[in-house]
Amino acid sequence: MSAHNSSKPATKVVSGGRRKDWTWPVVNPPIWRASTHLYETTQDLRRGHPNEDGHFHYGRRGSPTQWALAEALTELEPGAYGTLLYPSGVSAISGALLGVLKAGDVLLMTDNVYEPSRDLTRTLLADFNIETRFFDPLDVDGFADCFCPKTAAVLFEAPGSLTLEMCDVPKLAAIARANGALSLIDNTWAGPLGFTPLTHGCDITIMALTKHVGGHSDLMMGSVAAGEELYKRLRIKSQALGMVVSPDDAALALRGLRTMHVRLQHSTATALKLAEWLEQRPEVARVMCPMLPGAPGHDLWARDFTGGCGLFSFLLKGADVQAQSRFIDALELFGIGYSWGGFESLATPFEPSRARSATSWPPAGVEREDRFGIRLAIGLEDPDDLQSDLAQAFEKMDLK
Ligand SMILES: *Cc1c(COP(=O)(O)O)cnc(C)c1O
Repeated sequence: MSAHNSSKPATKVVSGGRRKDWTWPVVNPPIWRASTHLYETTQDLRRGHPNEDGHFHYGRRGSPTQWALAEALTELEPGAYGTLLYPSGVSAISGALLGVLKAGDVLLMTDNVYEPSRDLTRTLLADFNIETRFFDPLDVDGFADCFCPKTAAVLFEAPGSLTLEMCDVPKLAAIARANGALSLIDNTWAGPLGFTPLTHGCDITIMALTKHVGGHSDLMMGSVAAGEELYKRLRIKSQALGMVVSPDDAALALRGLRTMHVRLQHSTATALKLAEWLEQRPEVARVMCPMLPGAPGHDLWARDFTGGCGLFSFLLKGADVQAQSRFIDALELFGIGYSWGGFESLATPFEPSRARSATSWPPAGVEREDRFGIRLAIGLEDPDDLQSDLAQAFEKMDLK
């Protein structure tokens, strides 16, 4: 699809990866369900095939269904040479970290990181003698002091997917580079339509395809994209870890990808409308939504990002855990569950004090009694219906 390299992202979402020799004469690549790839002769088998993308060899190296998805994602990611697929977002994160770190290295991780990313530093990386230190993503001056000669990589998440702090990615990535460390970013929130990390100083971009790309709450997958040298290094490690996604799941992800642009536009617009409305509610202490003018991090978002999504949070004013639960339990249109990026709206409670080490919760400017939060993942429902649902849940929450 190189003829379309100059297309806009909305077009690439539709055209990416649809090589004629993988699809013709149908629109989508067929589901190549295969472990065995056959060779014509023993001579052919002995000669083998180059260990490169797009060559049949054996099921673990994928088939056109997976190749088409990886290629479509690469086309959406300026600066990327290739994209690796992993069976979940977490395996993409651990795969990327294991791919660039070695024993004795120090990893810096943003303090507002997705909690399973924090957990794997203790349950996985520590066993390989990789030490992790957490940093405050909003403290640019302090960040430079976090480096030591052993610091090999930094993991960012912007904004944090629970509390939505927006850090200055270009500035922090430049500091990392000046200190000889690689910058990895979990870009699940914005995805490539909202933020292109490799053009903002990051070396590796990671996504949970489970969220916006899947889009229908029925799929788990992750991706890692990078420039040529790093991509090739990561590919060797990913093959060593035996990472492969099923062709059925790849086909589902491709199906989700084709509508991602319109879904994100809709959920972003609804989220913004609800965030504005929540800001006026007496029960709300703070809205955490960088797309909202005046909200923390909005300036950085407006400078670096071209889009957002339906995920944002707010803090209840003077609530306790019971009030927080009453609010969520009263919601009728919002499911109670983890994940986001699906067509249906979700709500989850949070109070992340115990998952912070370099920062404190609640953040500066928020009273301690306002520390209980609600995270909303906005889907494709009518915005007015969602707003009415939130309004009736505030009534039932019955804050004294
Ligand atoms: C969900 C999520 C992940 C992990 O993805 P899974 O597919 O659930 O393993 C990673 N990062 C962020 C920001 C997420 O929201």
